[in-house]
Amino acid sequence: MRLSLFWRLGLTFLALVLAILACTDWFAAGMLRSDALSNGFGQLQVLGRVAQARPPRVNDAQALNDWLAEMSATGARITVIAADGRVQAESQHDAGLENQTAQPEIHDALTSTSGQGQAVRYDPSLDRDVQYFAVRDSSGAAPVVLRFALLLPSIEEGLVHFRRKLWLAALAILLFAAGISILFSRRYASRVQQLREFASRAAAGDFTPVPRDHGNDALAELAAALGGTVAQLGQTIRSLTDERNRSAAILSSMVEGVAVVGSDERILYCNRAFEQILELQEGSSQGRKLVEALRQAELVSAVRQVLPGGEEVTGEVEVGTIRRRSFSVTAAPVQAARVNSAVLVLHDITELRRLERVRRDFVANVSHEFKTPLTAIQGFAETLLGGALDDKANRRRFVEIIREHSQRLTRLTDDLLKLSRIEAGQFELELRPVNVEALVNGCVETARFKAEAKGLHINVQLQQGMPPVRGDNARLAEVLQNLVDNALQYTPSGGQIDVEAHSDDHAVIFTVADTGIGIPESDLERIFERFYRVDAARSREVGGTGLGLSISRHIVDAHGGRIWVESAVGQGSRFHFSIDSA
Ligand code: ADP
Repeated sequence: MRLSLFWRLGLTFLALVLAILACTDWFAAGMLRSDALSNGFGQLQVLGRVAQARPPRVNDAQALNDWLAEMSATGARITVIAADGRVQAESQHDAGLENQTAQPEIHDALTSTSGQGQAVRYDPSLDRDVQYFAVRDSSGAAPVVLRFALLLPSIEEGLVHFRRKLWLAALAILLFAAGISILFSRRYASRVQQLREFASRAAAGDFTPVPRDHGNDALAELAAALGGTVAQLGQTIRSLTDERNRSAAILSSMVEGVAVVGSDERILYCNRAFEQILELQEGSSQGRKLVEALRQAELVSAVRQVLPGGEEVTGEVEVGTIRRRSFSVTAAPVQAARVNSAVLVLHDITELRRLERVRRDFVANVSHEFKTPLTAIQGFAETLLGGALDDKANRRRFVEIIREHSQRLTRLTDDLLKLSRIEAGQFELELRPVNVEALVNGCVETARFKAEAKGLHINVQLQQGMPPVRGDNARLAEVLQNLVDNALQYTPSGGQIDVEAHSDDHAVIFTVADTGIGIPESDLERIFERFYRVDAARSREVGGTGLGLSISRHIVDAHGGRIWVESAVGQGSRFHFSIDSA
């Protein structure tokens, strides 16, 4: 680039100088020739005037020869020509004697009023141009033409001399100009090179400002303009990059799955959540056709609906093979730079659906639980009113049944209220150090009467010197009481119930073990759910509501503890819960 610019400038300059030299040469040659011609004709005219003043005597050969010798002493060749063109006398004897009327100077001298004529002709024998000047002399009997000829002085010599000087001067100018031009072009080329490097850097994304150009020419203006443009471009690209990074960070941290699909149904962008939700390999989806990447036909059809630019489409899909999850789908059309695309947003509504299901189940469960006692109460009340009031043998039993069912309703209502308060967060614990021994013994004492009545043996085993636990005494008693009651209820008579407590590093573990009916393994996970019962009829029979373990788990959770069970059908169950030491 540098060399080519240098040579381009240098050669242009050289061509210019050569053109000027050629013009000067041509012009100088012309000037020299016209100077020589006018000098020559001047001399010849003077000779002509002298000859006219002293014309030759044509009839006298001797006098004519003398005249010729005298006149030719001037250096001119003299010819005396008769009016018919014949040469009568000639100062150079070797000259040709052909008729001269055809020569323009002779013709002019004979015919023009001034009686003069002049011409320049090339003489091949002399290999030179010759100037001719002819005057008519009418002083004699017959007019004659006196012609004077001079060799045109060679302008070549002068021209060579002039050329030598001209070329020397030109060479000096050229050398000087070349030096200046080298300096100038080098500097110019290096500035251009600097700009070129700057432009390449900018194209590669490096927006470091252009080095300052101290010139005050067009190139400096170009550098300044380019610098300004690139600085602005850099600023724009920086802010766009920041914005893009921000958007990417927001999108990648979103729990909602987001994807942008192009008009050719290829995934232009999708966030990590989108790939995770649809179980796609991370980073593999971009650029793939939606229909190839996804198995959910609903999503593809939603995108197809909005791609032409229609209304937003919403729907719901279920994904996942082992754990099914529900997602709400929103497909919205996007038009950017006159290209249609669609944005797909997947929002996890599994929990919402689960809660809805739980609510539905809860309402159904509650209705079901209330239905039996209410039907019984209504039935027996109607029986009594229908005449059984007078039936002395049965009326007491009927009223007792009504009382029993209303007590069950009360228990149910109490448990439901408790549960709803706990779940609504309106449940405050009064945390204090609770003496484990007193807690266990209190509960066992309450249950002992029931146990004896059922023929069960309760055994208490407490580790010595246990630290108190940090908890709400009444609530913890409720949990323990519930476990002991369950053990009493689900253990046939003759069985044994062990209530134990021991401490480990930072917590006390309470255990209520029985030798009862046990719980099938498949139900172990679910017995802490509300209304979940292994055998609903049996639970109802023994007065259970199906809410006791659920309430217990809430209370233990609120204490930061854990409740769990080990059981084998027919062998008994071991319920444990741990509460942190105070
Ligand atoms: P319920 O009022 O029915 O006892 P719970 O929530 O206390 O309700 O218990 C839920 C279910 O767990 C019971 O219906 C019963 O099937 C089972 N269960 C609880 N404790 C025991 C136990 N000690 N032995 C056998 N099954 C039990």
